Amino acid sequence: MRELLARVYAALPPMIGTTQPVYVASGAATGMMESAIRCGARGRVLALVAGAFGERFARIAEACGRSVTRLVAPPGDTVSADALSDALEHGEYDAVTAVHVETSTGSMADVASYGRALASHEDVLLLVDAVSSVGGVEVEMEAARMDIVLSASQKALALPPGLSFIACSQRAMARAVELPDRGMYLDVVRMDEYWRRGETAGTPAIPQLYALDAQLDAIAREGLAKRFARHRAMAAAVHEWAGDAAAREHGVGILAEEGVRAPTVSCLTVPGDAVRLSQLLRERGFEVGAGYGTLSASTIRIGHMGDHTVREVSKLLDALDDALGELAP
Ligand SMILES: *Cc1c(COP(=O)(O)O)cnc(C)c1O
Repeated sequence: MRELLARVYAALPPMIGTTQPVYVASGAATGMMESAIRCGARGRVLALVAGAFGERFARIAEACGRSVTRLVAPPGDTVSADALSDALEHGEYDAVTAVHVETSTGSMADVASYGRALASHEDVLLLVDAVSSVGGVEVEMEAARMDIVLSASQKALALPPGLSFIACSQRAMARAVELPDRGMYLDVVRMDEYWRRGETAGTPAIPQLYALDAQLDAIAREGLAKRFARHRAMAAAVHEWAGDAAAREHGVGILAEEGVRAPTVSCLTVPGDAVRLSQLLRERGFEVGAGYGTLSASTIRIGHMGDHTVREVSKLLDALDDALGELAP
């Protein structure tokens, strides 16, 4: 286990563009969102909300007793850096929460622009949910001035659920040691103590760690640049299909606006019953994500991430053409 953890601890930081440790815990990503708040937010949080997961981050902050102000973008859009700068001018915050790829809408925020907006606000930490981006698209933690980045095993890393990850900048670590209510399991200071010993802070989810070790090896063999290019190619295939006359005839669109579309997940607006459409796709051997929350009746989501290929995505799009034909003959 020590040898395995040593390999995992060495392989994770480059995936998110940091030289800081990446801590691994057994649990869902939501736990690490709470960890980011408990260890990174003192009292006043500015939450950038572009969908359900941005809203979840805001609610976690509230549940942890922080005072939260939301900056909300319409579904399919992202909060602009200008809006962030403006909010920072007019309010006192000590942390900003952001979601890199908003899985509920398929949008991707320009986190680097958030980092630039925060450049003159030394004391404001940038806490980033990178659950649907790590392993599928570049995450440049240090270059983009992110203070806390969290992720999990079950999205673009294409692993079973059960593992979550968190990394902290030195500034975030310095803040954490001063915060009184970090709790225990989610405390990054405690995680760091175990990391230094080459261990994990709780009993490790050993089967998942074997899978992670194997997958990190497979990712290294593919190469990160190639892996990210494959994700962009899968997204492009979906965008192209949706821009085609055939899809337009079916009345299908992409929720996320051009320029903010994620390479890892697409949210399609569909005419008629989205739940029925998912069923028709399942009958054809394809599993798509249902729309999330308020978008459940009107959208489906294609998770073109992880180990999927352009070829498989093309087959799915053929099946989608077919299913749409049956939905509205
Ligand atoms: C899936 C997801 C989560 C929640 O992950 P859990 O492991 O279910 O807690 C959080 N944020 C984003 C962006 C996600 O896609």
